[in-house]
Amino acid sequence: MTRSLLLGLALTGAACAHSVSTTTTTSQANPFFQPSPLLYQAPPFDRIHDGDYQPAIEEGMRQQLVEIREIGDQPAPATFDNTIVAMEKSGEVLTRVMKVFSAMTGANTNDALEHVQEVMAPKLAAQRDAFFLDDKLFQRVSSLYARRDALGLNAEQRFLVERYYRDFVRSGAKLGDADKARLKALNAEEATLTTSFQKKLLAGTKAGALVIGDRSQLAGMSDAEIAAMARPDGKWVLKLQNTTQQPAQAELENRDLRRRLFEASTQRAEHGDSNDTRAVITRLAALRAERAQILGYPNFAAYALDDEMAKTPDRAIKLLSDIAEPAVAKAYIEAGHMQALAVTQGRVMPGRAASSPSELYSYALFTLEPWDWQYYAEQVRKKDYALDESQIKPYFELDRVLHDGVFFAAHQLYGLTFKERKDIPVYQPDVRVFEVFDVDGSSLALWYCDYFKRDNKNGGAWEDTFVEQSGLLGTKAVVYNVANFTKPATGHPALLSYSDVNTMFHEFGHALHAMFSHVEYPRFAGTATPRDFVEFPSQFNEHWALEPSVVASYAKDYRTGAPMPQELIDKIKRTRTFNQGFALTESIQAALLDMAWHTIPAGTSTGEVDAFEAAALERYHVAVRDVPPRYRSTYFSHIWQGGYAAGYYAYLWSEILDDDAYAWFVERGGMTRDNGQRFRDMILSRGGTIEAADMYRAFRGRDPSAEALLENRGLKPTPQP
Ligand SMILES: [Zn+2]
Repeated sequence: MTRSLLLGLALTGAACAHSVSTTTTTSQANPFFQPSPLLYQAPPFDRIHDGDYQPAIEEGMRQQLVEIREIGDQPAPATFDNTIVAMEKSGEVLTRVMKVFSAMTGANTNDALEHVQEVMAPKLAAQRDAFFLDDKLFQRVSSLYARRDALGLNAEQRFLVERYYRDFVRSGAKLGDADKARLKALNAEEATLTTSFQKKLLAGTKAGALVIGDRSQLAGMSDAEIAAMARPDGKWVLKLQNTTQQPAQAELENRDLRRRLFEASTQRAEHGDSNDTRAVITRLAALRAERAQILGYPNFAAYALDDEMAKTPDRAIKLLSDIAEPAVAKAYIEAGHMQALAVTQGRVMPGRAASSPSELYSYALFTLEPWDWQYYAEQVRKKDYALDESQIKPYFELDRVLHDGVFFAAHQLYGLTFKERKDIPVYQPDVRVFEVFDVDGSSLALWYCDYFKRDNKNGGAWEDTFVEQSGLLGTKAVVYNVANFTKPATGHPALLSYSDVNTMFHEFGHALHAMFSHVEYPRFAGTATPRDFVEFPSQFNEHWALEPSVVASYAKDYRTGAPMPQELIDKIKRTRTFNQGFALTESIQAALLDMAWHTIPAGTSTGEVDAFEAAALERYHVAVRDVPPRYRSTYFSHIWQGGYAAGYYAYLWSEILDDDAYAWFVERGGMTRDNGQRFRDMILSRGGTIEAADMYRAFRGRDPSAEALLENRGLKPTPQP
């Protein structure tokens, strides 16, 4: 996931530097009022206090409004420089503070920051409207757009004019005053609702954690995992992750605890208390539909996808339906295997065999439930693939994975090197900073990682920047990755699952996209691509996690340094296609749920949330009894707060691109510097400067094909005889 989109929603296109000299209330004490003196303007976290954000946001907004007025009021006719470049340079202080503020509310929040967020969200939405619904600005952009072929612009500049024109039109600049006013009201309401959703979900997820008083209930988990869950009062806490299924379900032998954990997860935001999100999401869906209608679209998804590579909801839904059929069929086969395993084991609780024929008979009646899936999948994996996580984890020690895996792969492909910087201030002691050096040894960027789970951090993993690369502003990228890995107990090494390792490669792929950005204008920096393209570089980077030379470099037993046996590596590779019916089905379900919520026409009543959700899954033929969606509607933060509204399909859309691009590498000798350089030059450095479909076609020599995806997931239909 990348979160640039989040900030983008607040200030799309209104990015960055060079303020006019209108700061009357500037206080020297506020660290956001001047560019940071640190390397690449890294945030001076040692000088930033909670009380600095609101004054800086307010001052930044005030300055930007002055700048907008100055651009609009100029007597001189519109030129590229006095209008487009001036807009690109506006809002320097606002961008600087919002980049850090959005990072902190996502990864290290507290009551004070949440309060500022609540107060400022509607004002920031209004600020965005003040920019994009400013008639004088739009007239200037329009006139440039009409003359764009006669302005002597280069390709990036011409595309920037078109981009601004689209941004204005899509924001409602062509509407009459009454519609504009209604749009502003809806935007403000949406900003308040998304903040409210985020706050409720964070609280509901925290409150949903299970407190276990009896250690024996945790049977199946390792001593180290149990130690990491220990509380000072002698109890243990099973915290919820953002997804429906919880990793602990794979290990917990106690079926009743698995059920309780599953219910805590799926109902975290449906208790009818102050953390209940149902009213919020129903209203969000309705207001988005109304906004789309005002802007001339039949529904919100049609509006959103008009600006994406997919172009229409139908094309996205078709992609999902095409891959849903083999995925659902495979999920039923997987469920059958597990059902059979549970029965033939003759026991529902491992470690306790049936004691009588009648008890055995009752086991035969055992029915697999959604909370059993992870557990029996793990049993099948151990039995059929002879692989279990506890066997793997000693080989995936975080620091080694980082240096000898993630960094090593970036060195092989792109020639990068890394040096840890202990002198750059961080916002939390677990955060680490690295300076990144290019192939010629020159300094390229700064990269931060914040890997461990905390109660004040949103779930999942993401990438974003503190500072964007831009030739115009003379800035280099200051990038960060956030994840939610379990922090080991003091004195223990951080041992990762294969899925965690994959997450590190994924988020670092976004980071590479940001660091290699080589654009002039901040509007196009790094990950400022269509949403259904943005997961392509990150998912592409996952492919190197199991590259033979990369695994040999990082997968070593932390106790002995012994390399991971080839046999174990082969097993991990084989298991990559394991359980993919389930994995793909839960993702497709989530993507289609997103489409269902965002294809309602304005004025439709969606009714009760759970019923709407169930009906949508039926309608799209993806309802599978034991496979619930990866996120249910009430805690689907991607679509309600994360900038992925009508955009969750983008992960699968991008997966087509990344598998197809990886196939290109395989066809041409794989992990070579030449191949890496070409990918950097044609994809990773281009940001949003050209149409994504054109960029991809230029790299691949043709349009993307889904063949490689189905093959990688082990779902390629065998040809009929
Ligand atoms: Zn991502």
